[in-house]
Amino acid sequence: MKDHLAKTGGKVRTRFPPEPNGYLHIGHAKSMNMNFKGAFDKLGVAEDMRQTIFRYDDTNPEAESQEYIDSLREDVSWLGWTPVETTFSSDNFQQLYDYAVQLIKEGKAYVCHQTKDDISRCRDIAKAKIADPNTPGDPNSPWRERPREENLRLFGDMRKGKLEENAATLRLKMDMTSSNPNMWDQIAYRIRYTPHPHAGDNWCIYPTYDYTHCIVDSIEHIDYSICTLEFESRRESYYWLLEALNIYRPKVYEFARLNITYTVLSKRRLLKLVKQGLVRGWDDPRMPTIKSLRRRGYTAEALNAFCTDIGVSRNETIIEVERLTYWARTLMNDTAPRAMACLEPILVTITNLPEVLKLSAPLLPMAPEKGSREILLGSSIYIDSTDFREQDSKDYFGLAPGKLVGLKYAGLRLLRCDKVVKTGEDGTGTVKELICSLVDIAEDAKRPKGTLSWVPFDSAVKAEIRLYNHLFTVPEPDANWEQQLNLESEVVMPNAVVDSSVLGCAAGSPFQFERLGFFVVDRDSGSEAVGGKMVFNRTVTLRDGAGK
Ligand code: ATP
Ligand code: MG
Ligand code: MG
Repeated sequence: MKDHLAKTGGKVRTRFPPEPNGYLHIGHAKSMNMNFKGAFDKLGVAEDMRQTIFRYDDTNPEAESQEYIDSLREDVSWLGWTPVETTFSSDNFQQLYDYAVQLIKEGKAYVCHQTKDDISRCRDIAKAKIADPNTPGDPNSPWRERPREENLRLFGDMRKGKLEENAATLRLKMDMTSSNPNMWDQIAYRIRYTPHPHAGDNWCIYPTYDYTHCIVDSIEHIDYSICTLEFESRRESYYWLLEALNIYRPKVYEFARLNITYTVLSKRRLLKLVKQGLVRGWDDPRMPTIKSLRRRGYTAEALNAFCTDIGVSRNETIIEVERLTYWARTLMNDTAPRAMACLEPILVTITNLPEVLKLSAPLLPMAPEKGSREILLGSSIYIDSTDFREQDSKDYFGLAPGKLVGLKYAGLRLLRCDKVVKTGEDGTGTVKELICSLVDIAEDAKRPKGTLSWVPFDSAVKAEIRLYNHLFTVPEPDANWEQQLNLESEVVMPNAVVDSSVLGCAAGSPFQFERLGFFVVDRDSGSEAVGGKMVFNRTVTLRDGAGK
């Protein structure tokens, strides 16, 4: 206890311990929200008494990389969290090794040569013996009782690289008769001739997650080791090891992992999507990673508000994705300037306009004090192809031959379609242009139901607009998840146009394209791959369930 106080100075410590084997996702955001804030709030710990360590749990060099190490750090910081210290489990490799030697000396660990198959056979026996203790067979490894000296020598040989991969492991002498499989002589060390992204090539034996995690929690004097519920059954082995070493014991708490409908929150599965090229990479706007959500248009504020909103519990539930999109929509509604865009533009020529009209539109309709922009209505404009039909019908509010509709910000000047120009010599192809005129109506005249958004032709900005839908076709992707991918999760509109208020805006700048939803400028904007066009991602539609 004295040690503990000396280390923490009486402050309360938690840790956020991701493995750098992929990118962080929204589930990790929940864990961060808890470890950097929620847990302290619950415990009533004052702001200046809180300490959260950001720890790379990096014990598995085959899966880890510098790319992941860098991205994790960026995401923690982007979400607004400041760790008291950033540590690496691998910085403790020597200490962990020394502890292993101590365990061997005390008869609590042994070098084992069982293969994977041997071990699983023994585990089957252990399982059968729980059901019926008279089941024949020995669940113990034949190397369990070998002399200490031999264990010490062999473990030294493992360390020195004298044994091949899989030729030996170090196992903890726990309890093969326990009803908890985590107590069945866990593996503490394995041989891997793989250099480590942080520790370099100093080691050819690596400690396992189970062996490392509790010891480093102890070394760092964590008060509350908070993890997801699937670790509950590992509590017993966690404390077994700390007791065996007689070192400081943190308090362990479990909470339910975050699941969200229509996506998967598993780095392994996300990695597969990236590796197979099914998405544009780890930051593809359809993925649930922090970088993806950011590219999609979510702010750190929106993600943290979501995490706080859903709270923490021990009940495994699946959160509806609408609870996440709600926060994007709510926050963007206050911050995203309005602009007009046409996904598939058709040219409209207005034949009776004597001069260009200067119209004014507010940047944020609920906050007129934030200013307005000028929109010029000239004789050529674009409207969206879905806003014109050759065959009118009662429930259709768009433009049709001979019909009058409103134009956004044009007030009492309505648009009438006088003529349809089509491609092809005989005029039977697709609609190429609409010849229209403006018709003034009286203030008290009955107005049409439809008011179209439009983009001035002269200043139109060519854009690629990417519309996003759920990544999966089912709310709860299961073992068949690879067959449940939504092939229309990304719909690219390569020939869109946007009004010129978007010009010069950097990646991440938010907009509401009227009637279409909330969008942000994508980092691909201006790149060669898109012919220098601006690129926009749809963050969210204006209402749940709306949109293509
Ligand atoms: P994954 O299964 O995606 O690989 P993990 O649990 O292996 O996740 P780590 O990077 O090892 O991921 O976890 C870092 C921390 O984040 C752990 O404390 C873990 O419990 C927590 N965490 C991971 N996924 C979720 C989730 N979906 N909901 C809440 N917390 C999570
Ligand atoms: Mg993990
Ligand atoms: Mg994992």
